[in-house]
Amino acid sequence: EPEQIIRKIKNEFREIISVMRQDAENLVQLSRTDALTKINNRGAFDQFIEKAVNEARSQNKPLSLILFYIDYFKKFNDKYGHRIGDQALIVVASIVKKYVQEIEAEQGKNLFLARYGGEEFVVVLPDVVLNDAVLMAEEIRKRVESYNFIIRNTRGEIVEKGIKITISLGVAELLDEWESSLVDNLIDAADQALYAAKESGRNKVCYYTFKGCRCE
Ligand code: GH3
Ligand code: MG
Repeated sequence: EPEQIIRKIKNEFREIISVMRQDAENLVQLSRTDALTKINNRGAFDQFIEKAVNEARSQNKPLSLILFYIDYFKKFNDKYGHRIGDQALIVVASIVKKYVQEIEAEQGKNLFLARYGGEEFVVVLPDVVLNDAVLMAEEIRKRVESYNFIIRNTRGEIVEKGIKITISLGVAELLDEWESSLVDNLIDAADQALYAAKESGRNKVCYYTFKGCRCE
């Protein structure tokens, strides 16, 4: 009798612990996910990039980064409203997510897509050299450009279609010359390339080199 009761209590405890463990896992997942686009958020990126950069350095492997943002997004918001702007962010995130998953399946890479800030996104490309990262960035640019964005009202009816969204992209590779603050250097380099893309007319891919930024 008493042994049976003890067994029962033990089993109930096991169940409670398992549910709590699942809850904790879900919370961690949630804390790393951007609420709007459902991709990784800034916090998740910060964690990933730190580890990825250290690994690249210690294993002497390349690492590239693509930083991109939506062109004239403020105007887009002003014209179509914030709700449609939100939808555009979701669409851009899912186009890039799909591409990232394709590359992962084809090339066995482990890429990392995140929402970096408001309308800014980032892709970390471990074990990818600058040239290849630039090609991938160009493919992302084309896919976003060729997408026909449809605007629906709150009832789901199509209001306007064939609307284009474009992005500007900056690419950089972890350089041997950098001795410290590797993450900061890398992001800064991609940011400079992004700025060059914006300066040269947007809807463009530019990349960082020691001699300055170049564009596709
Ligand atoms: P540029 O081509 O020079 O980048 O022009 P821009 O209009 O994109 O300029 P800017 O970067 O200043 O504007 C970013 C806009 O992104 C401003 C802000 O309202 C919008 N934004 C940021 N986060 C969100 C969001 O979560 N939802 C929506 N709808 N808009 C957002
Ligand atoms: Mg912008």
